[in-house]
Amino acid sequence: MDRACPAEPRSRILNTLTAAAPDQLRLLDVQGLDSRLDQIQHRRRRLPEHEQIARASGRLNELDALLVAGRTELDDIDRELRKAEADVEAVRARSVRDQERMDRGQVGSPRELESLQHEIETLRRRQSDLEDVELEIMERRESGSARLTALTAERDAVAAELAAAEASRDAQLAELDAQSAQVSAERTELAGQVPDDLLALYERIRAQQGGVGAAPIRQRRCEGCRLEIGATDLQRFRTAPPDAVLRCEECRRILIRLPDSGI
Ligand SMILES: [Zn+2]
Repeated sequence: MDRACPAEPRSRILNTLTAAAPDQLRLLDVQGLDSRLDQIQHRRRRLPEHEQIARASGRLNELDALLVAGRTELDDIDRELRKAEADVEAVRARSVRDQERMDRGQVGSPRELESLQHEIETLRRRQSDLEDVELEIMERRESGSARLTALTAERDAVAAELAAAEASRDAQLAELDAQSAQVSAERTELAGQVPDDLLALYERIRAQQGGVGAAPIRQRRCEGCRLEIGATDLQRFRTAPPDAVLRCEECRRILIRLPDSGI
């Protein structure tokens, strides 16, 4: 690589660093590519899908927990229902047996008959009460089952939403990765043509100054910090040789002279 002649340091002018004007322009192009890479990274992080996915995943977890609880509750109700059915059936069977005894005339004394009639009446009331309990359980089962159906439907919808958001995110990330790889390759190629010392200075400032290490002067203004260059600095810049590496007195960024710099 062809470098500025080291035999003639220009430290007395502005800075110790010198670089040929075309190399300085190249650095500005490197800055442009770095800024594009930063934008791509920013877009990667700020995809609206990230939030959609987090929201849908959270809701899906909630729904899964609700479904587990709902199924457990329904199992408990089913057990309760089976017990209630068995209770009704036991009372009903005993009632039928008593009724048959009466119908067959197997009852001896009037007193026994009275006792049996009383029992049948008691059993009838008991069966009615137990059937009310059974009905109440069936109603609870119905509403529990309806709730499970609704939760399952919502879970399906949220799962579909999550899958769509993930697919969209993946597609966009793949697109951004492709762009990033392309810009990175260009950047590597171009940065390889910038002198190491200039590039190192640029990298250092870029890390300190929010991603911008080199900026053009436009209309007597530093495009890095947007401040107008003072008259004294302007005078120094005017007289500086083309290979002097200029720095903004305000933000310390490397300043690149362009035809429209106005100096
Ligand atoms: Zn500046």
